[in-house]
Amino acid sequence: MDKKTAYWNVDNLVDESDIYPQTRKSIVEAAELLRNNELVAFPTETVYGLGGNALADDTVEKIYAAKGRPSDNPLILHIADKEQLNDLVREVSPLASLLIEAFWPGPLTLVMPKKQGVAHRASAGLDTLAIRMPDHPLALALIRATGLPIAAPSANLSGRPSPTTARHVMEDLNGRIAGVLDGGPTGIGVESTVVDVTGNIPVILRPGGVTAEQIAEVAGNVAVDPGITSDKVAPKSPGMKYRHYAPAGEMTLVEADSQEQMIQAIIRLAEQAAAEGKKVGILAAEESASRYPEGCTVIACGQRADLHSVAHRVYDVLRTFDERGVDVIFSETFPAKGVGAAIMNRLNKAAGGKRYIC
Ligand code: AMP
Ligand code: MG
Repeated sequence: MDKKTAYWNVDNLVDESDIYPQTRKSIVEAAELLRNNELVAFPTETVYGLGGNALADDTVEKIYAAKGRPSDNPLILHIADKEQLNDLVREVSPLASLLIEAFWPGPLTLVMPKKQGVAHRASAGLDTLAIRMPDHPLALALIRATGLPIAAPSANLSGRPSPTTARHVMEDLNGRIAGVLDGGPTGIGVESTVVDVTGNIPVILRPGGVTAEQIAEVAGNVAVDPGITSDKVAPKSPGMKYRHYAPAGEMTLVEADSQEQMIQAIIRLAEQAAAEGKKVGILAAEESASRYPEGCTVIACGQRADLHSVAHRVYDVLRTFDERGVDVIFSETFPAKGVGAAIMNRLNKAAGGKRYIC
């Protein structure tokens, strides 16, 4: 593909009232492309999204093609105003309303009953639709300027780590899409939480930026799709069955009863692999990064004491291992609580489920 990809460097806005004239011009140009059924990548508070008109099946087809995404993996629709829901879903249940009030705009995607005849391709033919309102002034201004629901999966090639900067987007999609709005690095760093609200209690289909604990606090109850963690049960969210987010080096997650044992195990594994002539990468928390053997490519991925900082860094770290050309990666593991559930889900996928338990 040999499209000229437009690149707009825009301000890192604080809110939508803060838009400078030059930024406004960029948003108008990007929105015009989207209205003409072209694809434009833009920042959200989670990761960069690859936007396209969700109502036009041929545009949505272009999203699948640009990413190389399996065609049975439905997309999330992004809206800027709650009123847009009326054109997309059959009903907004009391449970859905509760969660919308509490978490929108924000990193929570709701799976709701789809209105007949809309967004057939974006929903991959399912009778439900996944929808969210992002909490990012640029994303909201852009979507609002199009007047459309915007389908926007992460703006990476399928199988690559999700992009948290416009540079990551360009690495994967330059020449394949019409434009990229660069609004600086994204904040949260992992994708939204996907929650099925078609039943009586919320069911988490993909862990993400809003935690299970936060959802339970609002809804009084929360379930987690067993398919997320089990190899035996098929996940309800079609995308969860794919090995996403994978770096090129072979990755192993190292688990132990204590942090010290985990560090010692990684040191042993790293020395062994280095002795076999392999180039070794280690994904570590800042607190323990200095513990590992010299000669290894040790990358600090935020602080263990602040898991949000780990989420913020994780995809960039996975991409950096690719740039450094490591053959194997040994990764520390983190508690799967709060945003740690999303971090461990992504690391597990990056490792293709490969664990070393000592
Ligand atoms: P991405 O767009 O890459 O952030 O991935 C979107 C995630 O939402 C994937 O795991 C999809 O399978 C999931 N998803 C989208 N629509 C639905 C739906 N209607 N039902 C269940 N999961 C969905
Ligand atoms: Mg994705």
